[in-house]
Parts: sequence; C-alpha cells; structure tokens
Amino acid sequence: MTEPTIFELSRPNRKGIRFPAPDVPLSELPKEFLREELPLPEVPENEVIRHFTNISQLNHAVDIGFYPLGSCTMKYNPKINEETSRLPGFSQIHPLQPVKTVQGALGLMHETQRWLAEISGFNTVSLQPAAGAHGELTGVLIIRAYHRSRGDTKRTKMLVPDSAHGTNPASSAMSGMKIIELTSDDRGNIDLDALKAECDDTLAGIMITNPNTLGLFDENIIEACQLVHESGGLVYGDGANMNALLGIYKPAEMGIDVMHFNLHKTFATPHGGGGPGSGPVGVIEELADFLPAPLVVMTSAGDEDNPAFYDLINPEQTIGRVKSFHGHFSIIVRAFTYMLSLGKNGLKDVAIHAVLNANYIQALVKDVYHIPYERTCMHEFVAEGKWEDAPGIRALDISKRLIDFGFHPPTNYFPLIVHEALMIEPTETETKETMDAFVDALLQIANEAKTDPDILHNAPTKAPFGRLDEVKAAKELILKTQLPEDY
Ligand SMILES: *Cc1c(COP(=O)(O)O)cnc(C)c1O
Repeated sequence: MTEPTIFELSRPNRKGIRFPAPDVPLSELPKEFLREELPLPEVPENEVIRHFTNISQLNHAVDIGFYPLGSCTMKYNPKINEETSRLPGFSQIHPLQPVKTVQGALGLMHETQRWLAEISGFNTVSLQPAAGAHGELTGVLIIRAYHRSRGDTKRTKMLVPDSAHGTNPASSAMSGMKIIELTSDDRGNIDLDALKAECDDTLAGIMITNPNTLGLFDENIIEACQLVHESGGLVYGDGANMNALLGIYKPAEMGIDVMHFNLHKTFATPHGGGGPGSGPVGVIEELADFLPAPLVVMTSAGDEDNPAFYDLINPEQTIGRVKSFHGHFSIIVRAFTYMLSLGKNGLKDVAIHAVLNANYIQALVKDVYHIPYERTCMHEFVAEGKWEDAPGIRALDISKRLIDFGFHPPTNYFPLIVHEALMIEPTETETKETMDAFVDALLQIANEAKTDPDILHNAPTKAPFGRLDEVKAAKELILKTQLPEDY
C-alpha cells in the first residue's frame, strides 16, 4: 500500500492557507535572498489533515497501543508536558538572550539538575547531552579527563559486560578506549572472577547497566564497584533502566561515579520520531569539575524582596561543550513537568508499578516461554522465542505475529547472550486488561507455532505493510520526499 506524497496531491491554486493582514509597514524583500523557484504543494486544508493523519497511522505509537519494547521504556507521554513546553515564556526565548532576561528558564534547568541529582545521589548534573548514547560518550570523556588530569595516562581499558547495550562499546571506542568484554555469571550478574582478572593499572573503568539488560538487579554491584575503585578505575552507570529504581535506589550510593539519564525513557518525554532525546549526565563530587560547559548555577538564593539569580558557568577542567547551547531545552521542560506533577511519592510509585507489571507478565508466560535467567525481574524480562517442538520458528516470527494483535513487538535479538531473545517491558501505566490481552496473544502464538507455523511465517497480515526487506530498507534509505518528475 502506498500513500501519494503531498506533492502528488497538489493541484494549482488549491490553497489551504490564508495569511493574516500584515501588522507592520510593507517593504520590499531583499532580492538576493529570494529563490526564483520554490516548489510548494498546493493542497486544501482538509486534504492536508487527511494526508498526515493517514500516514501517521501507518506506524505504531504509544498513543495507539501497547508498546512493550524492552530497554526502550516506551512509556506514555502525558499531554500536560506538551502544554507546559509550549508556554510562550519557554518556547519564544532564544539561548543567546542575556541571562537576566531568561531567569525563569535557567531556574527550571537548575531545579531539573537538582532533582535529577537528588533522585540518583550524584553531586552535579549537566543537562547538555542529546541522548543516552551521547551521555555515555560524555561520561567516558569525563573518565578519560579525570585520569589524564592526574597524569595517569596508562588507563585506556574499559570493561563492558557481554549483556551491555551496543552503545556502551561504541561510546567507549569513540573516546579512544580499548574495550574488554566481560562475561556474565550463570545468574546474569557481572562475573566477579572475570572482573578481577582485568583489574590492573591500565583500567580506566567499567560500564555497568543496573538493572542490567536481562531485567535483573545485579547482585554483585557493590563488590564490582569496589574492585574497580581499588584498582584505580571509575564506574560508569548506564542509567537507561532507571525506571525500575526511581525513589528506591540511588546509583551513586552503590559506587557508580558517573551516569546518564534518558529523559525520553524514564521521564516520559517523547521517544524516537516523537522528538529529540535528552541524556543528562550526573557525576560524583570529584568529577564535577570535568562536566561539559556551561552549567546552570544559582549565584544568589534571593530573599523576600529579590528572586533567586541564575547564571551559566564553565567548570575549570571542563571537557568542553558537547551540544550547542543548553541541550534540548523544551524536552527538559517536559521532564521537569513530569517530575513536578508526580512528586516524590509519585515517582516511587512509577518504579513499583513498572516492576510489578513486568513480573505479572513474566509469571503468566514463563511456563510457555523459556526464561533463561529466571529470577524476580525488575521492570522488564527476557524470554526465548523458540521451542524444540516448533522448528523453524524464530523470535522474529513471534514478533511479526504480535503486530496482527495490535501490539508493538518486544525487542528482538538483544541482549546478545540470550538466543532468540524477546525482551518485554510493559512500563507502569498499562492496565491489567491490556497486559492480559498481550499475555493471551503470546500464549495463542505459542500454540500456533506448534500447530500451524505458517500463520507466524506469513505474519503480519493486518498491518499496512507485510514483512519488510530490512537490508534493502537500510541500504537504499530514502529520507526525503521525492518531487514528481513534472513538478
Ligand atoms: C536506550 C539505551 C541506551 C541508549 O540510549 P539512547 O537515548 O537511545 O541513545 C543505552 N543503554 C541502554 C541499556 C538502553 O536501553
């Protein structure tokens, strides 16, 4: 099925827009900036709305249905966050305005830095990085700068567990580190013996995800951090799974030195196509001086007659700027709104219900879908999408069949240490009815896999597109609308 492009819908003089009468004196436009030709589509308003509404429905979204994409925390984005981010005092300002004219925006950023620090136990937080992976890069650069500032230039080895997200080795490599993969033990924790073997004076640090990507709380976290610290290394925390921990566990108190947050996961800001991400980084006191510049600080707390005053500073040993201006400001407004509307107890409830929901689904499917590291899970769990009595069925087939039930598939083939992985993360806001319907679908699919596997091989049949040629989609990627030849 193909939708016509907006240009194909265009007919001369079918306009969908009327300009208001000018409220400034008319003047000539500077000719040198005007284009001779500017092909714009001419389409009436109702057709424009139908066109974009139709193409928006070719995709799945959290506003359409259940989206249990493990590790990605595809949680509902409350609409109040959109409203506050559009308030003119936030949306109509410019980052180059003098600080005294944007005190409200700086105050909001300062509060957000402080609250993220409180939630995680870190000393200082920078809001600059644009996403989780970018936060990792920032964090590893901070670790490198710390060792270099002490003349400790031998430390170039970064340990990354075999269950880690692919961005962990990638961001370490981009920072010039040598990556050593650490095996997991048979309970899915960091293997302490493998770790000990790597602890020497070339160790820059370790990247730890806790809960890890198996959805499990690492039982060796304290010992692992201690071992790394004893040999002079630092611990990077991949904070993508903070949704399980809000209000319950502070990563800094367990020995993590630097960590990113994913505001588009844990703090309910739009994810993927819905908007840019945001990956603030928190650090312990010893690392605060290396944070990216600028940081928002409160230079005067204010009193009854004067409001507080905020300014921007450059930490003395800063690794420099990692993003233009102050990061994705309007995303920070959304995350701030989320924290403000839930409050301390509300944030804790988020974690409790995220963990409860994942355990509920795990308990209902575990007799049918093998769970290789079966423990009480945190906010997600990883099952295997294969059975001995259903040869030829892979996790991908199960995922494609789930689309026919109106569900987004779980994450497939990650973490790499589980064969045919299906990584399921319901998030805290789903109702029992939704989760029950999802479980029923998984159980029915398991039955079909063994009795009528072609149903799975041919799925999806109810989606706008069937199975895509993923290689072709990646190799021949077309990202812009093509103008029709005669346009
Ligand atoms: C999402 C994720 C990342 C990367 O975060 P982005 O914001 O997508 O760059 C890193 N690690 C884990 C475990 C993740 O789930």
